Parts: sequence; C-alpha cells; structure tokens
Amino acid sequence: MSRTLALVFLFFSLLQVSSPAFAQSCGAHGVALQVLGSGGPELQDKRASSSYLIWQDGRPRVLIDAGGGSALRFGESGAQMSQLDVILFSHFHVDHSADFSALIKSSWFEDRTRPLPVYGPPGNDFMPATTEFVADFFGGQRGVYRYLSELLEPAEQGSYKLQPHNVEAGPTPLSVFHSGDLSGSAVRVIHGGVPALAWRIELAGKSLVFSGDTNGDGDGLRRLAAGADLFVAHNAVPEGATGVERRLHMPPSVIGQIAADARVKSLVLSHRMLRTLGKEEQTQSEIRKRYSGPLQFANDLDCFPLN
Ligand SMILES: [Zn+2]
Repeated sequence: MSRTLALVFLFFSLLQVSSPAFAQSCGAHGVALQVLGSGGPELQDKRASSSYLIWQDGRPRVLIDAGGGSALRFGESGAQMSQLDVILFSHFHVDHSADFSALIKSSWFEDRTRPLPVYGPPGNDFMPATTEFVADFFGGQRGVYRYLSELLEPAEQGSYKLQPHNVEAGPTPLSVFHSGDLSGSAVRVIHGGVPALAWRIELAGKSLVFSGDTNGDGDGLRRLAAGADLFVAHNAVPEGATGVERRLHMPPSVIGQIAADARVKSLVLSHRMLRTLGKEEQTQSEIRKRYSGPLQFANDLDCFPLN
C-alpha cells in the first residue's frame, strides 16, 4: 500500500470510529439537550432547521420541532423513533416542521407499538391546527401520504397510532401532559399572525424551556421560563432589527431581559440565521448587559448535559 493510500485509509477508519461514538454519547447519563437543527430557514446557513431532542439515560424522550434537515440529524444522533415519548411543535412554519413526514416514515421500519402523541398549536386562517397538520399528511381520504394512513386512522390495522392534539394555551403556563417523571407545559407566544407556542419540559427533576419563534411580547415566556435549568432562545435577528424581522423575532436585548427576569440557570442561542451569524460578539454583549449566567451558541448535534 502506498503511503498516501495508507493515510487515506487511516483517515476514513478514524471517521467511522469517531462520529457515531461522539453522537451517541449525548444524554447517556442523566438529562441532556441535543440540538438537531441550530439554523433557520436559509439553506446557506449550512445548518438543519429548528429541532431539539431531549435525552435521558441514553433514551431520546422528547422531540421539539422537526425543521428541514433535522431527520438526518436525528439519525446521526443515534436516536430511534420507537424510543420517543412525545413530539411537540412550536408552530408550523416550514423551518420547524418540514421533516415530520420523513421521521414518521422512518418509524414505520421500527418496532413501535405504543401510541405517539403529537402536541402543537391550534390553527387559524393562515395555519392548520396540529390535528389538521397530521391529517393533511396521513389522513386516509385526503392525506398526501395516505399510503401510511394506518398510522393515523383508528379503523386501520397499524403497528402504532399518531395521536395529534391542539394545545389552546394562553399567556399563563398550561399543563399539557404528564406521565411519570416527564411533563410538558406551554404558553402562547407572539409570532406575527401564526399560532405559536413556547414549551417547558420537566424531566427527572430538570427543566428545559424552548422559546420557539417569537418577538418576546407579553409575559408568557418569562413566566414559563421561571427558574429553568436551560432556556433555548431563538437568535433569528440581530440587535437593531426593524420591520417584519422585529415584529416576528426577539433581538438579543429582549432575550437577555427574559433570561434575567426568569432567572434561568443557562441560556443556549439557536435558530441562527445569516443575519445573526458572524454577529455573536455583539449579540453576546447585548445579552450580557442583562443576563450574567452561562451562555452558549448552538451548532447542529451539540449536546448540553444538565447535571
Ligand atoms: Zn423559524
């Protein structure tokens, strides 16, 4: 074997050994957040769109959002769809929901028998409700993927059923589900005219809060995030943003204020877009004027243990 060939061979063997070992180490012990998608809708950010996975003792338990590219990251994380307890949606913009059907199709090859609850916002003229969103894919009559309707239609014989629910939350945290050591609550947040939720997950004594997309108006997110171990906020616009950008998203100063008011124990910035990438220093200094706890910028597949 030539020296170059030997080096190439060594390189690929190292790749094969190192990447799965790195990915699957998230959440092996205790509770951890893995960021599946740290980007926004732009493909040029070279990140999967919004998606988060909460691990506990080596098991992926909660998936929050499923933006484009996140299904691949889900596979890379080492997770299996059969292990999930629940899927949550913040809202149904493409960059938060486009890979849902890919994840569900993958689950069809796995050994899942228990139902899979899916919780998300109600609908309006612009957006489907969660029950509609799921039925628009998998409904037996009109679903685009009606060939998989056994996963939704009660009368059909399938390995398991999707159980979609619309969460009619207001500004006061609403308890949405509770099972053993896992529970979820939500508030409605303002994201233009789109029905949108922020989520709080309590798991084995740890609390994780996800802002979703919001401009930060109102008091709901602050209340939901009170005392959280980890707060994931969306860094979609830089400080000084105006117009539509600002009407839809919170700038760093607002993120910092909410994190400070809620006294969160750590802050992760995600949903990084072309307009905020490269401005991390400015973002950090705006946040630091208000919040002094741990602060990290997320990248795809990053793992944040809560120990
Ligand atoms: Zn978004």
